[in-house]
Amino acid sequence: MHTHRPPVSRAPSAALLRLALFIAALAIFAPLPLLAAQSGTFEGVVEVLWGDPSAASKEQAQHRIQVRTDAGQVIAIPNAGPSANAIAALSGNRVEVVVDEAAQGQRTVRFLRIIPTEQGDALLGGAVTGSQPWVSILCKFSDIASEPEDLTYFEGMYANTPGGLDHYWREQSYDLIDVVGSEAFAWVDLPNPQSTYIATPGSGTDANLGALFNDCTQAVNPFVDFSNGGNAFVGINMMFNGLLDCCAWGGSRFATLDGISKSWRTTWNPPWSFADEGIIAHEMGHGFGLPHSNNFDGDNNPYDSRWDVMSSATRNAVNHPIYGRLGKHTLSYHKDRLAWIAPGELFEPTANGTYTITIDQLALPSTPNYRMARLNPPTGNVYYTVEVRDLVGDYDGNLPGNAVIIVEVDPSRSQPAWVVDADVPPADTNFNEGSMWRVGEVFSDVGAEISIEVLSATANGFQVRIMYGSALPDALFDSGFE
Ligand SMILES: [Zn+2]
Repeated sequence: MHTHRPPVSRAPSAALLRLALFIAALAIFAPLPLLAAQSGTFEGVVEVLWGDPSAASKEQAQHRIQVRTDAGQVIAIPNAGPSANAIAALSGNRVEVVVDEAAQGQRTVRFLRIIPTEQGDALLGGAVTGSQPWVSILCKFSDIASEPEDLTYFEGMYANTPGGLDHYWREQSYDLIDVVGSEAFAWVDLPNPQSTYIATPGSGTDANLGALFNDCTQAVNPFVDFSNGGNAFVGINMMFNGLLDCCAWGGSRFATLDGISKSWRTTWNPPWSFADEGIIAHEMGHGFGLPHSNNFDGDNNPYDSRWDVMSSATRNAVNHPIYGRLGKHTLSYHKDRLAWIAPGELFEPTANGTYTITIDQLALPSTPNYRMARLNPPTGNVYYTVEVRDLVGDYDGNLPGNAVIIVEVDPSRSQPAWVVDADVPPADTNFNEGSMWRVGEVFSDVGAEISIEVLSATANGFQVRIMYGSALPDALFDSGFE
């Protein structure tokens, strides 16, 4: 039944090898200053980083795809286009690339192959299940004395009570993951002042994330066993007592710590980041391999969808007295990427026909119905997902409404999931009616031979009628968005 899957790496597989061949067919032009300063063949691990700016910084969202060599060189991959996204999908994999330095600083980076390793390509970007212990390490710039929050705050942030991150990730994943075993350690001093790491704190994009990682992990190393007695931490939340550049950052970092060499899920957080737990949840989401999602307005701001912690982390959020605005649920597309949607909870028709199904709201802990539908057009890689959201639970309680949400997914985009908006033009921020499909409304994409009609409200969601393929009646060919 589930023949179409997103092209993400859940395990070493034939699909991954096909992806590798796809990338190998493309030369990637990199008119960027590469830290790898000469032509040659390089082996290293793919790292993907997202930078999320504060409103005050006036910067745009940052996205870095890079290969870190064993010698510590960082080879930047230009981050636009399908080929870059395909390499990003290899986050955590050891790869071989060829750097060709041409005249005038024009260089190309050409993907050669994936190098099989123990830690494997399932680590990042695919399924995430089981216990995921993170460690919070708190690092002070040598010229800044303040401790914006105390150790108790960071320890409590991992609690399994509403508002705690263990509770949050259990709810997000329907108990398929937890962060049991996560710990926080007391503030330590970095060897250098803030200016050593960031030229202009609070602006720009030039925080030396590598030096911050190296110095912060080394500063805590006398107190922190990253191997965690054999149950190594999966991720590192670095909390700093001053601004970084524009941004809080999340993604991965390959390093050897306490004898463990792997891609660590990693976040870099200034004080405004850990003041709102939703931002920490967002950065951890990047650590789990999730990209941003978006609304439908086509601008370059990936923070204007109110339906996803991986877009607007803090708007339409539930407020907590201690931990500020909490993360909301992430779109079903993202949950499916992480393998949190059970096969029986995904409706994915393969035969033309008319189907009436019930989809329950996405925050429901368990369901006898569906959590999502995935509708694949007869041709192309762009498809739709259908989910239900409601103002319920500890994390979705302040969403814009109770409605069916339809998402267009284009895996070749750096933000694959865009929440469909029927308004013309689409709203700047998608708490609008056009983004909420109510009883009696019909979405149709005639070219894709798909229509979705919201029939009625049910106890925990909505009943919808899906027409798929040639079952689409002629009448719909005139209607388009209703
Ligand atoms: Zn982000």
